[in-house]
Amino acid sequence: MEIHQQDFQDRRGTGTMDVEVPAQRPASAGRVSGATAAVQAAVQAAAPAVPRPVPIPAPIRTGHRFLIYKQDPSVAELGARLAFVPSVVLNGPTDARVRTVLDGVTPVARNVNGDFVFAAGTPQFDCAHTFAVVRQALAMYERHNGGRPIPFAWNVDGNTDRITVYPHAGLGANAFYSRTAKALKFLFFTPEGQPQSTVVHTCRSFDIVAHETGHALLDGLKPGWLAADCPPQTGGLHEAFGDLTAIFLALAQPDQAEALVALTKGNLHDKSFLADVAEEFGRALGMPSGLRNCDNDLKLSQVGNEVHGISQVFTGAIYDVLADVCAFETARQRRTKDPTLVLIEVAAELCRLVFDAIVASPATGARYVDVANEMLRISAGRGHPPIYRTFVRNRFAVREITTAATSLTDLMSGRMRMTDADYTGDGRDVTEVEQLDEHSASLRAEQDRTRCCGTMQMPEYQVVSAEKLARHGSLEDDDILHDDLEELREAFG
Ligand SMILES: [Zn+2]
Repeated sequence: MEIHQQDFQDRRGTGTMDVEVPAQRPASAGRVSGATAAVQAAVQAAAPAVPRPVPIPAPIRTGHRFLIYKQDPSVAELGARLAFVPSVVLNGPTDARVRTVLDGVTPVARNVNGDFVFAAGTPQFDCAHTFAVVRQALAMYERHNGGRPIPFAWNVDGNTDRITVYPHAGLGANAFYSRTAKALKFLFFTPEGQPQSTVVHTCRSFDIVAHETGHALLDGLKPGWLAADCPPQTGGLHEAFGDLTAIFLALAQPDQAEALVALTKGNLHDKSFLADVAEEFGRALGMPSGLRNCDNDLKLSQVGNEVHGISQVFTGAIYDVLADVCAFETARQRRTKDPTLVLIEVAAELCRLVFDAIVASPATGARYVDVANEMLRISAGRGHPPIYRTFVRNRFAVREITTAATSLTDLMSGRMRMTDADYTGDGRDVTEVEQLDEHSASLRAEQDRTRCCGTMQMPEYQVVSAEKLARHGSLEDDDILHDDLEELREAFG
């Protein structure tokens, strides 16, 4: 069926009738401040007829509402909510950067209000949800990029090819980003021992969609980092960036931030939906705390060359810094700002710091110490209080990533002066630390990607060299088969 841009949803068969969406009120209603309730009611009743001699500021006319899962179908306290995407989205959903493909379903048409709102569980919902989360992740990093667009790896020399999102890409307990396919693919599966009717869709997980979008965006920023011939820590940065995208994207949404503050009373180390990544998916595979726990205490010496474990060390360090800065800022601003707002601002600032540090790190073979040192340098240049850098140095040192520039005694004995903006432990606010162990398997060994997500398992990143990947541009099947083809050419010569 062809759907044109002027077409609206066919309300039969898409489940839209089941979804209640609040109507947009006329702008004049309820704007009579100070009026008694009776007068207000009377004015409201007559509101549409009241002339407005003073023009009101016209809102931006673009933008669409999407119904999305805020975590996933299993996290009932957040459930599915409306989200506003303020840019132009065409039927598909499609925009200038992202398109959606689901055979027999797309293009999905918006409704008469311009919204992509469908009953949860329908294929149309899956298309809208997946598109919206990809779009939100892209928008978050573009904000941190000074409003400038972030290219996909193939967006060079004027190429504007979109990334294609496949919400039901096939059977399997996985999801992945592929540069060759210019795609994000989300698979679905029935967990072992469950009836055939129980299907877990990875596209319905906010965390999984954010994670895979993180891979795609980082491949645009640092095209050499996915290569398997980089040190395991470089692979770890890719996996960690995916998980951190899920964390920071959740905290960029005020309703999620407020729910978290209320749930944990502002303690980010309390168990919560934030630190647990991909809850439904993890539980389906027998992991009660979700697929990952970002609030972990892993050290480099405990994870060998296993990239997924190595990524947890970096994610955990950043999560700890987030909790530290949040504790400091909540105390500092306790009389002037709501704790939810503090959390949102701290998370945005830390996300921008990590983003800028990654952009400033080496094009290939980046190590955790490179990113840590860039974070320290950029933080100092940005005028953050010295205690921010103490948090960064401490958290990377305690995980055996870097040398401890300041003594860890205060941290380990719980005597850090968490409310002292100038606290540095021993008075030195250094912005350069050293790799703790140059012989760490996380730097020297081959990458073990067996426990990573589908992206890291793709052949294109296993066999194409970092040097080739780092050159940007699209990737063809023959690039993956390059060595085999060379051998054949010789054999047939
Ligand atoms: Zn991944």
